[in-house]
Amino acid sequence: MEEIFNMLFTPEVKTAIMLIIVLFGVLYVISIIWVIRDSYLRGANPVIWGIISLIPFIGAFAYSMMRPPMLLSDKDEQAIDFALKKRELMKYGECAKCGYPVEREYLMCPNCGTQLKNECRSCGHALNPEWRICPFCCTPIGQ
Ligand SMILES: [Zn+2]
Ligand SMILES: [Zn+2]
Repeated sequence: MEEIFNMLFTPEVKTAIMLIIVLFGVLYVISIIWVIRDSYLRGANPVIWGIISLIPFIGAFAYSMMRPPMLLSDKDEQAIDFALKKRELMKYGECAKCGYPVEREYLMCPNCGTQLKNECRSCGHALNPEWRICPFCCTPIGQ
């Protein structure tokens, strides 16, 4: 029995097995670090996922299946992008008649000539038709 064992497990084979064990050990540790770091970045609970990832490989695999789809920094970027687009929409309106994009300060649609806003008699700023007073120079608007 001892002889067969020694024949099968030559020093080379033993070294190879050791290397494989070490390799899996390193992969295991890396997978735990990855899960903790990734769950933290994605806004998941890194403590809970860190504990789950202690189950060798299955934990990390489960996390990669169930992790939140987006990184937190991506989420922030998307929110900023959305806010910028919204602001752009607020700045630029559309001509009620032809739909041409017009800016806040436009009195007339440059495309079809429709009057979009009133002009302040005192300072010349563009005024919304429903305003009763010019917010730029405090002149009351009226007939
Ligand atoms: Zn127009
Ligand atoms: Zn004014």
